[in-house]
Amino acid sequence: MPSAADALAVVQQHYPDADPTDLQTGALLDLLQEAFGLPPSQWLLADSLCADEVNSLEYPPRASQMVGVFHLGGLDGFPHAGLTGMAAFGGHVPDGGGVVIYHAPHIGVSSDGQLGGIRRIGQERVTACCGAARAAVTRLLSDAIVAGDPSPLDYQQGTIEQILLPYATRIRSASAPLKEATEVIADAITERIDTLVEQTKIPARWLIRFGAILINGDPAMGSFSAPRRLLCTDLVTGETSDLLPALRGRLPARSVPT
Ligand SMILES: [Zn+2]
Repeated sequence: MPSAADALAVVQQHYPDADPTDLQTGALLDLLQEAFGLPPSQWLLADSLCADEVNSLEYPPRASQMVGVFHLGGLDGFPHAGLTGMAAFGGHVPDGGGVVIYHAPHIGVSSDGQLGGIRRIGQERVTACCGAARAAVTRLLSDAIVAGDPSPLDYQQGTIEQILLPYATRIRSASAPLKEATEVIADAITERIDTLVEQTKIPARWLIRFGAILINGDPAMGSFSAPRRLLCTDLVTGETSDLLPALRGRLPARSVPT
């Protein structure tokens, strides 16, 4: 079993700015308490993460101090719940409280440093993580994806494939195609979250949008998060500020911003 430091070192070979999710969540809750005077119980947590059970198994315990979780995601974290999902959770915000939306595609890093796979509970072999992204990239690299509306029988996977299709050249030429595809999906998730936010009336003062790459390890390693943005929007004034430097300042110095 790797030590926590060893596990983090393995993950940071691929994502130098990653931190353990529970440590990062604790830092976020402290930051939100100090900046807005709101304890964790005043924040409604929504996430947009892959349906993969590993994300439940490796969910940061400290996140349970917030109200939630409302799940907006589906395969590889795209917010498939759409406008109706956004409107539903908007009605669940504690009075006088705020909303945190954590959105991320995910990717595995095994204890021996393999990118794109993990060992799962009860298994010795390494299996794909994210399996949906891996399947989509495999089809992309073999020119098997055709532009068009996704099939109703496999709508979420079809959506992921359509997101990747315009970036075929970029992904094909990357040294790690699955890692590159994960960045493409992260950008698509961010764009969709922002569109959904623009079109939803959220009855809260503060909206936190925390975008990241979520990294799953083998069971003994836990999960890690490489931030891509941490924005706070005052929903009364419309003003948005960048909280990521403040979050990084609360995390151990070993974290290397990229
Ligand atoms: Zn997945």
